[in-house]
Amino acid sequence: MAEDCLFCKIARGEIPVDKLYEDDDLVAFRDIAPQAPQHFLVIPKKHLAGPNAIAVEDEPLIGRIMAAGARLARENGVESFRFVVNEGEEAGQTVFHFHLHVLGGRAMDWPPG
Ligand code: AMP
Repeated sequence: MAEDCLFCKIARGEIPVDKLYEDDDLVAFRDIAPQAPQHFLVIPKKHLAGPNAIAVEDEPLIGRIMAAGARLARENGVESFRFVVNEGEEAGQTVFHFHLHVLGGRAMDWPPG
């Protein structure tokens, strides 16, 4: 856990969110600035700055995040969805704690802007 990390604070329950799911390792909550009718984030409670910080020991955790994202999409009536994970500012990362975006409920463009 990083003291000043926004998503660590959310994982610790210090900042209120619209939570969809929580267990010992993960939290899923709706994005505060949704970019689609359905837009939520799945984060590990463990602080990982982003994809580049994933160690071999974290790989099962990242797999659980992907599986939870798909399951929560289905449970919220989203059959077709997009996963997005940003690494670095040029890619659009603004919060430096790993998070899986799950977006659905509208047609998506390809390639992304
Ligand atoms: P990224 O740009 O990939 O780092 O994504 C960070 C995401 O976190 C953005 O989509 C923000 O809207 C979202 N976000 C930031 N603060 C909060 C918050 N307090 N609750 C929910 N989502 C947040």
